[in-house]
Amino acid sequence: MKTNLFLTFFYKDNVKEVYGKMSKVRKVDNYDYKEIEQAVQEYWEINNIPQKLTTFRRGLKKYYLLDGPPYINAEPHVGHVKTTVCKDVWTKYKFMRGFDAHLQAGFDCHGLPIEVIVQKELGITNKKDIEKMGIEKFEQKCLEKILNNEKKWIEYYKKIGAWRGYYEPYFTYKKSYIESAWWTLKTMHEKGILNEGENPNYWCPTCETVLSGYEVSDSYKNILDPSIYIKFRIKGKQNEYLLVWTTTPWTLPANVAIIVAPKEDYVRVRVIQGDLTEYYIIAEKRLEEVLKKQANMDYEIQEKIKGSDLDGLEYEPIIKCNIQDKTKNIRRVRLSIPVLASKQYKKHATESNESFTDFVNVADGTGLVHCAPGHGLTDYYMGIHYNLPALSPVNEEGKFNEDVEQFQGRQVKEADKDIISLLESEGKVLLFNKETHPYPLCWRCKTPLIFRMTKQWYLNIDTIKDKMIRYSENADWNPAFGREAMRNWIQDAGDWCISRQRYWATPIPIWKCGKCSQITVIGSFEELIKKTIEPVGDLQDLHRHNIDELTINCEQCGGQSKRIKDVFDVWFDSGIAAWASLGYPFENKELFEKMQTLDMICESQDQIRGWYYHLIFTYAALFDKPAFKSASLMGWVVDEKGLKMSKSVGNVISASDAIEKIGSDALRLYYCSEIAPYDVQKFSIKAATDAHKTLLILWNSVNFCKTYRKTKKQLNTDEVLELITGTKNTDDDWIISRLQTTILEVDKAVEKFEFHIAGRTISNFIVNDVSRTYIKLIRDTIQEDENVSLILNYVLTESLKLLAPFTPFTTEYLYQELLEEESEEPKSIHTIFYPEVNAKLKKEKLEKTYENSLKIVEAMNNLRQKFKLRNRWPLEYVKINSKEEYDEELIKKLANVDEVVKESKFTEAAMKTDEFTIEIPEKLSKTQLEKAFFREVVRAIQAQRKKAGYNVNQKIQVYSSKNKILEEMKDELSKEVNAEEITFVTSKKGSNQVTVELEDLNAEIGFE
Ligand SMILES: [Zn+2]
Ligand SMILES: [Zn+2]
Repeated sequence: MKTNLFLTFFYKDNVKEVYGKMSKVRKVDNYDYKEIEQAVQEYWEINNIPQKLTTFRRGLKKYYLLDGPPYINAEPHVGHVKTTVCKDVWTKYKFMRGFDAHLQAGFDCHGLPIEVIVQKELGITNKKDIEKMGIEKFEQKCLEKILNNEKKWIEYYKKIGAWRGYYEPYFTYKKSYIESAWWTLKTMHEKGILNEGENPNYWCPTCETVLSGYEVSDSYKNILDPSIYIKFRIKGKQNEYLLVWTTTPWTLPANVAIIVAPKEDYVRVRVIQGDLTEYYIIAEKRLEEVLKKQANMDYEIQEKIKGSDLDGLEYEPIIKCNIQDKTKNIRRVRLSIPVLASKQYKKHATESNESFTDFVNVADGTGLVHCAPGHGLTDYYMGIHYNLPALSPVNEEGKFNEDVEQFQGRQVKEADKDIISLLESEGKVLLFNKETHPYPLCWRCKTPLIFRMTKQWYLNIDTIKDKMIRYSENADWNPAFGREAMRNWIQDAGDWCISRQRYWATPIPIWKCGKCSQITVIGSFEELIKKTIEPVGDLQDLHRHNIDELTINCEQCGGQSKRIKDVFDVWFDSGIAAWASLGYPFENKELFEKMQTLDMICESQDQIRGWYYHLIFTYAALFDKPAFKSASLMGWVVDEKGLKMSKSVGNVISASDAIEKIGSDALRLYYCSEIAPYDVQKFSIKAATDAHKTLLILWNSVNFCKTYRKTKKQLNTDEVLELITGTKNTDDDWIISRLQTTILEVDKAVEKFEFHIAGRTISNFIVNDVSRTYIKLIRDTIQEDENVSLILNYVLTESLKLLAPFTPFTTEYLYQELLEEESEEPKSIHTIFYPEVNAKLKKEKLEKTYENSLKIVEAMNNLRQKFKLRNRWPLEYVKINSKEEYDEELIKKLANVDEVVKESKFTEAAMKTDEFTIEIPEKLSKTQLEKAFFREVVRAIQAQRKKAGYNVNQKIQVYSSKNKILEEMKDELSKEVNAEEITFVTSKKGSNQVTVELEDLNAEIGFE
């Protein structure tokens, strides 16, 4: 059955039938973020807001951000949260910017991790056991292990407010996904890039499969290996030897040549030990180090020989065994050529640090190198050059086969010590040490890998490599070092080995003829049904157990073709996610053709070698197109001390814990303000919790507006322009201009993946400009001046929109609070458009003047602190000498000062900065003290009013002790504290009592 789920999401209008179920988010009384987030999530879910998002932007410009599939059995932790948040910010932002953004989560369901878990549970250790129990049963167990595991992730996506949690995810194990994989391989085959090859590959003896590329480069460990100097006897000589150094004795049965450096000098030396006289050939540069220092031997140089003169010299097998006996044309000295050295990836590499080096160097060892092309890559290159056989007498379990009869059935690395004993007994060991060196391990089961020759299936990279580099270069990389790293990785990449010898994975759809070896690549389920000899029926599951036994007739010779047993590398699964997630080309053809090249991928930096690379490969091979236009690289999230989070250390913080402790919006805002998304972040619960400060200030600002505004009316930008044109209120002009600057900066930052700058810019605007400055300036006028209400409504709504992609819950809630109207259709801040800059509203000079004035106010507050003068006590004057312009009225209002004086002479009490010098009086004068006393009285009554639960409009009766100052300012006091009447009494009266003292002034006040 084919579903058109995603087409439904994109094209079918299902808005009306569900609208109107819940017109507003349920009310939350205080800033209780858990309550808010829960209420908003309910609102979204009841009204299907996230599911309907795409219908709002239907037909508009597409935005395809593909979700890199996390491994389905992984538990989301705070590192995942950061990636989820960034991806979600991208989509939410693009939605609000008018793009038709694609939303879909996905899960990586196949591969060794699941198999290893299942094997462990079943108590089986090798492939024989699996085959004995039956592949079907084993696959069934693997399937059971992953079913429903996505639920935790989906729940988490919803909790963190990510839209993708509301859409049908893709799973790499499903039939439609596997069919897409088959189609992909068939198409690649038709393009001529699929081939079978026999090469030495890394092999895990425990998992019994080849491993390659990223799977190997990612997991190294220092292990202790033997380091031996051994003697290869020269053919036809009784006591003359070639000295060779090796750390892998187990590869000696597969030796086919000894390589020397043609331009180096070698020597033939005579050593006498007791009654034994022997002759050794060794590089001159290594003579002293090896023979004198390490072996403590005396020697006599007999002859000096150029490396090139050793060419062709024959020698005896170091280990006599079947394979050495039966292989012709081996065991000669050959000359070294330059070969590709092993590659090392550097995160911030500015240039490729891999180069060709000579196979032999004389900096270590003996200058004579044992060559086993079946057990090493550089050896293999040498072997190709000299047409040497690649011997590999090792089976799938990493054990010697009958070709090495003495050690048959022995695990090769375990056989090392016995090989050394054998060589010692034959007098072939000159020196024996142990040495620690980095060695690759199986990324899944941690077994040391070995190199062995196997037949595998490859996708040829040669014909597409240039394109891959070009496409990657043309993409927008944030930060830019990703481009460099990607180029290095592609440059050095070999053919992609896509086959693995396992079970729980997408089967490779290649059928091979037993007679003529012709291959048939099956590209769809339909094709399979048509070509198989056996009836297939309507299979829903295309894993190995269902298709391994199906045969088809060879098109070339009519012989019987059977499926090769191999399955795909899991990177093939995720590498085709852009279309396989949609079931393309069998489903959603139109949709994928519309979306094609991805607009954005955003994953952690180590995925350069993983997902980013494989996407580039598949897109270039299949469509001749770049995979993505933009790539954003996420930095690691480590623990507070800077340590990598890991299960064994026990410092992993799960996503659910973090959300529970911090709340989703604060966590999101923390990730989008503390540090650049591409930098390493030391995760701190405390620092993340601090993000609530901004949200609380926003909450309070919206509530202030709701409480005091004269109108709920919302103006659009044009109406705001009309409103402020020609008025004298520069405060309004300023806040509107600051809003324009903020929008500009946020846009710029988001586009450059500088989410931390975007977050900080919006927070700064809300906290410093709107709350601490604008609201302070309009506090006294908002109740009378309708224009001020209109401006504040506008500024707060725009702020909420700016912040919506970052903190979707709080902004949704406050947006509806601010609108306050009951509407028939549920509204969402996420379906409206992001703020646009209007150049006419931007007043740079005014912003500059305000900026300077605000700095002066801040400096005055610092001086007040120094002189212990509270902010609410009025100052007599401030003396200013400033390079930049400032606004006197603004300073008076914000700094609570009566007079602003231009001055050039200052005393020692002044404060000097680069831009200005200011000075305020160190003590209050008598008049100022009285004013300050009055302010203290007002504040004390107001605080007590609030504490006693009086609302703003409630009138009170005030009783004060006799006080000249208060008696003089009786009317003003009444107004400030909203008193019906103030009576001066000689004894305490009123149920609420406060005492106010300031220097020698005091009053006892009661009210009710
Ligand atoms: Zn393994
Ligand atoms: Zn055939």
